[in-house]
Amino acid sequence: MDFFSFSKTELEEELLKAFLPKFRAKQMLDWVYKKGVTDLKSMTNLPLDLRQRTALGVSILPLREKLIQQSTDGTKKALLQLNDGEFIESVYIPEGDRATVCFSSQVGCAMGCSFCATGQSGFVRNLDPGEIVGQLYYWQYSKGFPITNAVAMGQGEPFLNWDNFQKAIGILTDPDCFGIGARHLTVSTCGIAPKIRELAYLPWQINLSVSLHAPLDKLRSQIMPINRRYPLKELMEAIVEYIRVTNRRVTFEYTVIPEFNDGEENANLLIGLLDKMLCHVNIIPLNPLAGKSENLEAAEKFVKLLDKKLNVTLRRSRGADIDAACGQLKQKQVYE
Ligand code: SAH
Ligand code: SF4
Repeated sequence: MDFFSFSKTELEEELLKAFLPKFRAKQMLDWVYKKGVTDLKSMTNLPLDLRQRTALGVSILPLREKLIQQSTDGTKKALLQLNDGEFIESVYIPEGDRATVCFSSQVGCAMGCSFCATGQSGFVRNLDPGEIVGQLYYWQYSKGFPITNAVAMGQGEPFLNWDNFQKAIGILTDPDCFGIGARHLTVSTCGIAPKIRELAYLPWQINLSVSLHAPLDKLRSQIMPINRRYPLKELMEAIVEYIRVTNRRVTFEYTVIPEFNDGEENANLLIGLLDKMLCHVNIIPLNPLAGKSENLEAAEKFVKLLDKKLNVTLRRSRGADIDAACGQLKQKQVYE
């Protein structure tokens, strides 16, 4: 297991196996997460033989930067290679006094949504907790770009890598580890209803975002195969339960595909579906699978139809000139 997959308790246990006292774990975590030091030799208050005694791969972040691109709008996208040679992408989005990292939860995605480049490239494997934590660590410590927020809106469906994802959240929110507040983290799902219910009963304050994209099963199933497994009725019931239990506001993502899911009829159906619900709707212009031309006009029109009936924001995608915008993240074959 790589160092970034260890919770504090697991690290303590690992050190105990090597007859090292618990407090050494706190010392190591301070070096890594407070001082940004990952080289064991530089951790001057630790016993010199700790490396031989524990086999901890602490000096190695489980990902390496292969390419970094910067958009004209300041967004940065990194192509990161994992230890087994696979690739993921991770995006850094500065916005005033905030900076949000959009991180991946899987290599590829099995969900096959028709409008999403990740979905088109298929599923390869789950990320382990250290590969998730490692993406935030990479931006904040390897690159020196501080993070205020992080969203699981890169490649993959986080609820289908739920055990590893939960573990990563535990490490990210532990003040002795990465130490980012749960309220600054968002999990985004294409609609795995039973996991939404599960999330409702977890003690975390992490935000939930649901990729909705259509107000009718007939339309949604055409672009999102997962809708056949968890149709809108089941999905909405799970979300209502989540809101009732947590009293937290849910965000819906709605990508406008011109002449498919827009127009007055769809607007009214969406208003009916979300009426009186504690929620916010982000309207996203459709990004092409690669490149820049976004369909802004159709999205603007749709926003006007919803305005005053729902809490709605038009979200301009960031980083489209480097294919870093929503739905544009792909894998290695594109780079080779
Ligand atoms: N699998 C999760 C997390 C990925 S989030 C999910 O689907 O929610 C990626 C977000 O970008 C989702 O809201 C997705 O629906 C949206 N998206 C995908 N392709 C897009 C495209 N071509 N244009 C705009 N948004 C897109
Ligand atoms: Fe997967 Fe989300 Fe893309 Fe659908 S939109 S294919 S669930 S990453």
